[in-house]
Order: sequence, then C-alpha cells, then structure tokens
Amino acid sequence: MTLDEYIDALPARRLLSGAKRKILVSLWGDGQSFPGTWVKSSYLLELTGQKYFDRRARELRDELGCDIETRHYDGEHCWRLNSTKISQGNTRQYLSEKQKKELFNSCDYQCSICGKETGPGVRGLQADHKVPLIRGGSHEFSNWQGICNECK
Ligand SMILES: [Zn+2]
Repeated sequence: MTLDEYIDALPARRLLSGAKRKILVSLWGDGQSFPGTWVKSSYLLELTGQKYFDRRARELRDELGCDIETRHYDGEHCWRLNSTKISQGNTRQYLSEKQKKELFNSCDYQCSICGKETGPGVRGLQADHKVPLIRGGSHEFSNWQGICNECK
C-alpha cells in the first residue's frame, strides 16, 4: 500500500488539514514496514509549526481512525503509526444535527440494538454505522442507526 492509497481509504478526507497531512507523511516514513519508527514531538512541532500539533495528531487517530500509538520513548513524547488499519473513528463529524434528528426520529428514539427508549433529544442516542467502515460500510445515510450509550 502506498501513502496515497492509504489516504484515499481514510473516511472524511476533508478533515485532513495540511498539518495533519504533514504529520501523517512523517509517521508513514518509507512505508516499508509497520509499526513505523517513533517520531518525536519536537520534530512534529517543528514540522507543522503548530503549537497544537499534538491535538492534530490525536484527531488523526480519533476522527480519521489512523492507528497511531503514542508513548514516552527515548526521553521524549513520541508518535508512530502502528499499522495501516483504519478504524471507524469518531462519528460525530459525519452527520449534521438535522440528519441525526431525522435518523433518531425514524427509529422513534429507540436504540437499534437493545431497543431501549431514550426519550426525545439528540443526546440520548448516538449515530453509529450499521456496517463498520473497516468492513466496507459507508457514510451513506442508509448505513446509519441510532444506538444508546450502553450499546455504543
Ligand atoms: Zn442500547
């Protein structure tokens, strides 16, 4: 897999800002084997010129689903890409509030897994992919369901 192919496979590529792309490129390294090499925080800070580069790196992991690991290594906070696996990431970015309301209305505010009623209000239910992205699911509206916090 090349870096371009990997980036193409990411959900919500619009979230891939310039800083995040730079971080990803440096974590990708030569792309020959994973886990990749540890990249130091000081290097990422210099590379991105962003004080909050660590937030961007976490967004890569939490919102785009990159398999990023972080730990203290060689006296400094470091980051690496564990594998080319892409997890579902945080779903809140993909549906508008209006779409969520429509989704939750369509299931009568009941959890699609356990059937629990949550009452009105978007907070009671979470939007979730029926078929996870990692198994080929999409962000199409038809691939969403409402589930409760316990089933999440
Ligand atoms: Zn439930």
